[in-house]
Amino acid sequence: MIDVCVAGSTGSIGTQTLDVIDTDPDRYRVSSLTAGSSWEAVAAQALKYRPDTVVLASDANLHQLRDALPQSIAVVVGEAALAEAVAAADVTINGIVGFAGLPATLACLEAGKRLGLANKESLIAAGPVVQRARRTPGAELVPVDSEHAAIHQSLRSNHDPVRIKRLQITASGGPFRGKSADELAEVTVAAALAHPTWAMGPKITIDSSTLMNKGLEVIEAVELFGAPSTMDTELGFDDIDVVVHPQSIVHSMATFSDGSTIAQLSNPNMRGPIGYALAYPDRLAAPYGEIDWSQAQTLTFEPPDRAAFPCLDLAFAAGRIGGTAPAWLSAANEVAVDAFLEERIRWNEIPSIVEAVLTTHDGGMGETLESVLEGDSIARIRAAEALASRPSSTQGLT
Ligand code: NAD
Ligand code: MG
Repeated sequence: MIDVCVAGSTGSIGTQTLDVIDTDPDRYRVSSLTAGSSWEAVAAQALKYRPDTVVLASDANLHQLRDALPQSIAVVVGEAALAEAVAAADVTINGIVGFAGLPATLACLEAGKRLGLANKESLIAAGPVVQRARRTPGAELVPVDSEHAAIHQSLRSNHDPVRIKRLQITASGGPFRGKSADELAEVTVAAALAHPTWAMGPKITIDSSTLMNKGLEVIEAVELFGAPSTMDTELGFDDIDVVVHPQSIVHSMATFSDGSTIAQLSNPNMRGPIGYALAYPDRLAAPYGEIDWSQAQTLTFEPPDRAAFPCLDLAFAAGRIGGTAPAWLSAANEVAVDAFLEERIRWNEIPSIVEAVLTTHDGGMGETLESVLEGDSIARIRAAEALASRPSSTQGLT
């Protein structure tokens, strides 16, 4: 029996992780569930899965949750309790959104366990710290982000890291593919939340519409498969192509020294990569997103429009600066996306806020957890200042 901690169990990744576990209850057991504030949703999950522990991020609803569950299920709060629940499991699927996912990422790797990582923000913001934690004996990081799960699969047959020449990360292009910068000035929250191929939580859906998600994934790919990783490849930011592929069938690719490109293909369904991270090096018995190859279909590829979607190059820039610059980028983006979702700024102000923050980066190296946490909070303050000082800040939105 494999004990699984589902971190962020009430979200899009969390609920789909439980769907996958449902397909093989003799193999996987939910040992813990963690959630931010949605105590009613996690209570319903706990009554169904009977985990040992449920962890909440804050104690606001602790008593309601305790009252809703039998005493055999421990209901706990905070980072130390989260670390304990994560360390007790064999595998943690980290589906927490944003920088808040960092404690679960570190607790899992430092306990020498398998991390199925959907929470890309923790790896991006705390690269050097996470890389150190990855070297803990027994620790293993298997990506859940579909592009990185695809690259992980594409690299499996390779014997010498030096033969990996380039990585191609595919992007659906989001809901605004093909739109000009002028057309993009007026997009609404509802339009930005209407992703053409993936149903996901709100933050990553907005990131997909700006291509910040792709930019974050480029940094994620360098951390996972590039120079700082345990794979010892030379891959850096010049060795990664972003390829717009609107059908979301080819989930990403790796190109080798002999000119061969290997890709992973399936219909878009996150249960596939979640199951991959749970079962690796085995494969799940249940199929998700299997393609019916007897039906004709067309797959297309095109370069991204870097001028209309400046977030992509902002992420490349932050990755090249290194140190805490990716943490600053990611924190400023979280603040800007929240402001957009609350209709306090326009969609095309998201990159302006991120750029304003990134240009003031202080050269921090981010070698320690303290410096990453400090970098994250400085960037959030700078982003709040950038929000307050924007020319239209006193005019509201029309
Ligand atoms: P979501 O908003 O649907 O769910 C987020 C989960 O995190 C919820 O369970 C919520 O309760 C919990 N949470 C929120 N704030 C928290 C806090 N402060 N402390 C602890 N828990 C907190 O998000 P999602 O779409 O499932 O995305 C989760 C992560 O997975 C993100 O990092 C995202 O980039 C990544 N990801 C998601 C998808 C997808 O298809 N949804 C695909 C690839 C990667
Ligand atoms: Mg992805």
